[in-house]
Amino acid sequence: MARQDDKKKRKNCSLCADKVESIDYKDAAKLKRYLTEAGKIIPRRITGNCAEHQRMIAKAIKRAREAAIISYTFD
Ligand SMILES: [Zn+2]
Repeated sequence: MARQDDKKKRKNCSLCADKVESIDYKDAAKLKRYLTEAGKIIPRRITGNCAEHQRMIAKAIKRAREAAIISYTFD
């Protein structure tokens, strides 16, 4: 049973896998991986990110938008 529990806990978060502790809002290329074509943040049930990293992504994206590094919408 222990094995099954481990599987459930691992949420396929690519950022956890990379041991990412902070996300640079200036890294537009990385942030864009978490945006839809319409410029919206991809929900974590699709990306598989954990809540913690999803929050980091959302924060970084908002900052990047304010700094005009990424646009609010893509065309
Ligand atoms: Zn994570």
